[in-house]
Amino acid sequence: METQLESAPAPDVRIVLVGTQHPGNIGSAARAMKTMGLSRLVLVAPEKAPDRDTQAMAAGADDLVEAAPVFATLAEAVADCRWVLGCTARSRRIQLEPLHPRDAARRALLAAANGPVALVFGRERTGLDNDELQLCHAAVHIPSDPAFSSLNLAAAVQVLAYELRCAVLDAAGADTQPTLAMRTAPPGEGSASHAELEGLFGQLAETLEQIDFHKGRAPESAMRKLRRLYLRANLDSADIRLLRGVLADAQRMARLAAAMGSVPAKIG
Ligand code: SAH
Repeated sequence: METQLESAPAPDVRIVLVGTQHPGNIGSAARAMKTMGLSRLVLVAPEKAPDRDTQAMAAGADDLVEAAPVFATLAEAVADCRWVLGCTARSRRIQLEPLHPRDAARRALLAAANGPVALVFGRERTGLDNDELQLCHAAVHIPSDPAFSSLNLAAAVQVLAYELRCAVLDAAGADTQPTLAMRTAPPGEGSASHAELEGLFGQLAETLEQIDFHKGRAPESAMRKLRRLYLRANLDSADIRLLRGVLADAQRMARLAAAMGSVPAKIG
C-alpha cells in the first residue's frame, strides 16, 4: 500500500485563490494543499501580498506560496485550463447545478489527464462574484449546514484537496475505504463509559503492582497490552463490576500474603 501511495502521481490541478483578504489564509491553504499532495497554487489579485502571517500559517508549505504566480484577473489565471470549477458557499444563487466535492474531484482527476484543471476559491467576505462564476464550467458546493454554510477559505481548500487525494489514491488502486480496526468491536448500547474503563484500568495497574506482576519490568508495556485487550472486548458496566470484584479479591489476598510476610510488602 505504501508504494502505491508514494507513487500516486500529483494531478494537474491548480488551486486558484481569488482576491484573498487575509494573508494567513493563503498560508493555510498552501498547507492544506501540500498535505494532500497538491503543489500548484495560483493567486489572483490578493488584497495583501503574502507576509509573515502567510508563512506562519503555511507551517512548512511556504514553497508553494513562493512558487505561486500572481495574476490580475481570474480569466488570465485559468486561460490555459481545460476545466474550471468554482467553489461556492451559496448553492442557490448560482445558475450551475453544483457538484458534490467527491464527484467534482473524480471528474477533475479524469479531466486533468487531458489538460490543467482549476479549482477556484473566492474572497473570505464575499466569495466569487457573478462575473467570476461565469468563467467557471461548473460549481462545487460543500454540503454544509444551509443555516451556516460558509467554511473558512482554507478549510474549503482542505475538503476539496482531500477529495482529490482520495480520488488519486482510488485511481492508483489503494484501498481508501475507511475500516474499523478489525478486532475492535464498535461500542454499542450499554457499553461502559470512559470513566468506568479508566476506573478498571487504574485498579488493574494497582493490583499488578501489589501482586508483583512486573518483577522489575517497566509496567507501561503490560498495561498498554491489557488496555488494548479490554478495549477489544467492548465491556459493559456489569462486566466492569465483575472484573473489579475479581481485582478487589486479588488485592485482598495480596494484602493478606504481605501481612504474613510471604511476598515483599509492596502495599501502601
Ligand atoms: N461569505 C462568502 C463565503 C466566502 S468563504 C460567500 O457567501 O460566498 C471563501 C471561499 O471558500 C468561498 O468563496 C468558496 O470558494 C469557499 N467555500 C466556503 N464555504 C464553501 C462551501 N460550503 N462550499 C464550497 N466552497 C466553499
